[in-house]
Amino acid sequence: MKASQSDSEVDALDTGGEHEEVAGIWRRGSGLRAIVAIHSTALGPALGGTRFRPYPTVADGLADVLRLSRAMSYKAAMAGLELGGGKAVILGDPSVLRSPGLWRDYGAFLNGLGGRYYTAEDVGTSIADMDELGRHTRFVTGRSVEAGGSGDPSPVTAFGVFRAMQAAAKSLWGSDSLAGRRIAVNGVGKVGGALAGLAAGDGAKLVVADVDQSAVRRVVDATGATASDPGEIHATACDIYAPCALGGALDDETVPALACEAVVGAANNQLARPELAAVLRERGIAYVPDYVVNAGGVINIAYERDGEYDPGAAHEHVARIYDTVVALFDEASRTGDTLEAIADRTAEQRIAVADAARAGGSSTLG
Ligand code: NAD
Repeated sequence: MKASQSDSEVDALDTGGEHEEVAGIWRRGSGLRAIVAIHSTALGPALGGTRFRPYPTVADGLADVLRLSRAMSYKAAMAGLELGGGKAVILGDPSVLRSPGLWRDYGAFLNGLGGRYYTAEDVGTSIADMDELGRHTRFVTGRSVEAGGSGDPSPVTAFGVFRAMQAAAKSLWGSDSLAGRRIAVNGVGKVGGALAGLAAGDGAKLVVADVDQSAVRRVVDATGATASDPGEIHATACDIYAPCALGGALDDETVPALACEAVVGAANNQLARPELAAVLRERGIAYVPDYVVNAGGVINIAYERDGEYDPGAAHEHVARIYDTVVALFDEASRTGDTLEAIADRTAEQRIAVADAARAGGSSTLG
């Protein structure tokens, strides 16, 4: 009985062997319980945020950090960054556990990883937390402008989504202008709100929804958008549907009801299950992979990591999301594959090539 119990615990903590390094820290004094997963450093140091939330079990936290760090490798590779993928989770309720001592202990832990992993804000952590953490480690990005960081990444992320929309428009309709295009944005928070402004500025006709009515009002007043219901907006007849709220927006209920030609949105993990990418293609809807579309945030903090943050250089790099998306459409018309499958394959190839070069280099040295 005892043996089988410990066996199943070991199984629950099995990382599957795909990740380069998984490290944990438990500190009684501050209550810090953190796991850092470094998926790959083949292209460069791993970069990804620290998610701070109560997980039902340690195994749940581990599963999340493994999944999220892998996604960061793909996102950085497709964004053309010389960075790998990593992520961290702090287990617990941030409103209870957040303290200067916790950030001190966490900073010391990151220092011990020697720069193989750089962190940033994520769900449950804030720019202020990154400033506090930055007092103890230099392996942190996403700090405030006052602290020498790049500040809120949302406007830059929105610009990247806007560029991805222009690329989709060029590939589907022959012009990258959004003038006269009907675009439905679900979730008009920091990214969706800024995106609505950019799209309206390019002449798009907007339909917007949010569970927060004050956010809807702000965008309607600023852009002349039409307000819709968050539970119904996905079925709006439009050119582009942009999920910009929570993950899992494209599921077995919403996908059959979509009445758009393309999905280009900021939300992470839009597909409730990966098979829906093929379902969307069968329906004639171009789903531009979320992690390609919303890479502006990680590109932005990558420029912070390089030393003095240069907003112009970051902006220029984010603008190139346009070229990446056009290349995905071109490849899809040649192969008939989904944009998602092509992006995954391209990211995997880039990481594998860098890995092989690294292995070749070390065997020469060895
Ligand atoms: P946010 O919290 O500022 O905005 C999200 C908005 O969605 C809020 O206004 C909220 O009221 C609304 N919302 C919540 N549930 C909803 C629902 N069921 N239906 C409709 N609206 C709902 O967050 P954000 O920073 O704008 O991020 C939006 C999405 O983009 C998230 O999925 C985030 O992970 C992703 N993302 C953000 C960035 C960034 O730089 N902020 C970068 C990459 C990805």
